[in-house]
Amino acid sequence: MQTKKWVFSFDELDMVNNAVGDDWDAVRELLGGKGANLAEMVRIGLPVPHGFTVSTEACNAYLKSGGTFPQGMWDQVLAALQTVESQTGKRFGGEEAPLLVSCRSGAKFSMPGMMDTVLNIGLNSQTVAAMIRLTDDARFVYDSYRRLIQMFGSVVMGIADEPFETVITAARRSAGVENDNELSADDWKKVADTFKAIYRRHTTHDFPEDPFKQLKMATEAVFKSWNGKRAVDYRNAAGIAHDLGTAVSVVTMVFGNMGDDCATGVAMTRHGSTGEPHLEGDYLTNAQGEDVVAGIRMTRDLSQLKEEMPDVYAEFERIAKLLEDHYREMQDMEFTIERGKLWMLQTRDGKRTAQAAVRIAVDMVEEGRIDRKTAVLRVNPEHVDFFLHPQFEPTAIAGGRLLARGLNVSPGAAVGQVAFDANMAEAWAKREGKQVIMVRPETKPDDVHGMLAAQGILTSRGGRTSHAALVARQFGKPAVVGASGLTIDLANRQMIVDSQTIHEGDWISIDGTAGNVYEGQLETMVPDIKDPWLIKLLSWADEFRTLGVWTNADYPRDARRALEYGAQGIGLCRSEHMFFETDRLPHFQKMIMADYPVERREALAALLPFQREDFAGLFRVMDGKPVIIRLIDPPLHEFLPDLVELVSELADLKIRLKHAPDMTTIDTLLADIRQKEQLRKRAQSLKEANPMLGLRGVRLGIYIPELTTMQVRAIFEAACMVVKEGIDVHPEVMIPLTSHVNELVRQRGVLEAEAKAVMAEQEVEIAYKFGTMIELPRAALTADQIAGAAEFFSFGTNDLTQTTFGISRDDAEAGFLIEYMETGILPSNPFATLDRDGVGQLIDMAVKKGRTTNPALECGICGEHGGEPQSIALCHELGLTYVSCSPFRVPIARLAAAHAALKAKSA
Ligand code: PEP
Ligand code: MG
Repeated sequence: MQTKKWVFSFDELDMVNNAVGDDWDAVRELLGGKGANLAEMVRIGLPVPHGFTVSTEACNAYLKSGGTFPQGMWDQVLAALQTVESQTGKRFGGEEAPLLVSCRSGAKFSMPGMMDTVLNIGLNSQTVAAMIRLTDDARFVYDSYRRLIQMFGSVVMGIADEPFETVITAARRSAGVENDNELSADDWKKVADTFKAIYRRHTTHDFPEDPFKQLKMATEAVFKSWNGKRAVDYRNAAGIAHDLGTAVSVVTMVFGNMGDDCATGVAMTRHGSTGEPHLEGDYLTNAQGEDVVAGIRMTRDLSQLKEEMPDVYAEFERIAKLLEDHYREMQDMEFTIERGKLWMLQTRDGKRTAQAAVRIAVDMVEEGRIDRKTAVLRVNPEHVDFFLHPQFEPTAIAGGRLLARGLNVSPGAAVGQVAFDANMAEAWAKREGKQVIMVRPETKPDDVHGMLAAQGILTSRGGRTSHAALVARQFGKPAVVGASGLTIDLANRQMIVDSQTIHEGDWISIDGTAGNVYEGQLETMVPDIKDPWLIKLLSWADEFRTLGVWTNADYPRDARRALEYGAQGIGLCRSEHMFFETDRLPHFQKMIMADYPVERREALAALLPFQREDFAGLFRVMDGKPVIIRLIDPPLHEFLPDLVELVSELADLKIRLKHAPDMTTIDTLLADIRQKEQLRKRAQSLKEANPMLGLRGVRLGIYIPELTTMQVRAIFEAACMVVKEGIDVHPEVMIPLTSHVNELVRQRGVLEAEAKAVMAEQEVEIAYKFGTMIELPRAALTADQIAGAAEFFSFGTNDLTQTTFGISRDDAEAGFLIEYMETGILPSNPFATLDRDGVGQLIDMAVKKGRTTNPALECGICGEHGGEPQSIALCHELGLTYVSCSPFRVPIARLAAAHAALKAKSA
């Protein structure tokens, strides 16, 4: 039997392509993004150091076996290493021209900094001597050697960074220098020796001298880092599958730390925050790989490289353009310059803010690189949300006290209490519900959980491509990095700026759009959608989608916002919300308390003008578009004071009565007691064991027909009124919580008669519809009957989920449902994402049955799911007419509906 191929040299891409049928996705899955792109760069003739990749399959086999390399893998590594030796003319462990390599992690989807890398593998006492002879640069060689021991120690053996960093700080102090690159060969030699001692102390054995052992242990460590906490946290946050595994790319070392004609850097072909079409990046002269991303040394802007090394810069610019043309995507590249020669160490699709993602997608269409469909599909619908993230009020900025300035790496405003480490940030945010800004000198991959829990991120060091910037951008967290005016004193949990001290727990505000840091809590506001690229992208999305996007809005101001965001109608106005307002509630309570019809009619008559104005306001805003008004739904007790409170207030009044000083007080107290007693009795009589399943929805309209009749009168009087103003009005009256067609027939009969009466009185004809919500399984199961009495269905999936699962929507999300999700009993929260198999099946059935009775039946969804991309895709599949969601989700829904249509077409 032939052994499986686990290891692929960079120049064996054709072989991989043949094996996976020229499927680039499959190549990335096998070689990891890094391995695949290195091989692709070799294929198109770019300067990449020789090397090979150990596949993700090998990693998965290793992890599955509990820590044994799969059969044949190591032999293949040795063979590939020999090929590299002959390609480079160097020998691994050789005493004349030693080959040094790096061991780099790389999964299918890039997870910046989440897994491990070890550089300078192959150095030991002999090769160090050989390298000094070869390079005549002992300083460089000892610096590289100490890096190997430090990285190997921390990555492979889990030794913390601190003991190593303490040694370097002490070395700088005793040499009287400020920067690492001012330390001499001798200094580094001593540091390397001390590092070896630290290694021995922590591991109880010597640092491995055998290069093959180093490579083997580093490969295992990279494999294992796939399951490290920070990688797992990152995958959970980014929605990456846990079974992909990481590949290991073994790459010949090239050195950016051999002197001043050497450098190392990272760059993006377009601006990662704004999407502007020009190169941006950071680099360091005379430094090695991780220094740049780690944010430990202050990096220089790539534009300075143009002056420092013009030829190399020109070559890099050429390659960057070539890569972007090749991949038709914005690229994020790592490079090293060794003695004036440029080497490409990595390219991958660049992480970007939502704003940049939209701009880049649109620009690339206009540059002729991609088509509109690709552009629309490239932007994640959820990312549109970031355009609506709060910004600071201009007046708040003008009056704010500026503490410091830094780089504006991830836009948006964030306000929170300072937390100086990730665990504190997470604990405060998750356990105490605090708003937190995580503040660090720089962030590391281990900090991701704190960054995710924080409102925003602030660092005093690091550049645009620092770890903090990349992670913040990816998750849409406002961030300011490299605010060098801040002195962060972690030991005393404080930071100092000018002469002011900010303690942990103090409030600050950061403006990731401008890069500013302010003292205290600045006022924020929700922006309008003005971004011209987003407007264009959404207009393209509208061309592709077939699903309508409506909105849930109760007030004209919400409707106006939704219209501005592109809503095509109102799918749900919860008419009872108006009754809670202070000028209406007393009338509504009177209506509930009424013992006689005449009293009830009086109270309702007082409410009618309020409701008429409410509806007229909505009709005016939505001129020409459908407006669905849902008749009262919640149980009546919700409008009365709480029973327990009433009882205690009554007890209180009775005590005061006993001690009343005079007759006037007694009279007032008695009147009060009488009124409260009445309220208590009514509240008691309306009390239900399960109000959600009690007297609500259509049942209320049947129980008190005058109530819903008043609402319908208000709707039609408002409609007639605005028609006379020249408004085009399309009211749709929605009856909630129907379970039996007879409920609908009865209620509709009464209500439609009232509607007709109003139109006759006003001498206006209005095109209207009567319909119902499908919120109960019985309604879905008998939808063919129900459609006989309804011109439209609207799926109230909040209630439909509640009644299908038999899980209370008000309690579940704070209770066992969380555990259900954590333990995988449920794949996701069914109140957030439609449950395809259960609730989805009911919707499917209801749409089909309903349309057999009435083929023109309008079907929409107005539960919370109407604004959630996965649920929107299901609604598209099930043939709904529209989704209705809160105004802020409208732009997301437009894009998600386009994705659904495009993906369904290509499937
Ligand atoms: C629903 O149940 O999905 C719905 C929209 O109605 P409400 O949330 O008001 O019960
Ligand atoms: Mg409902």
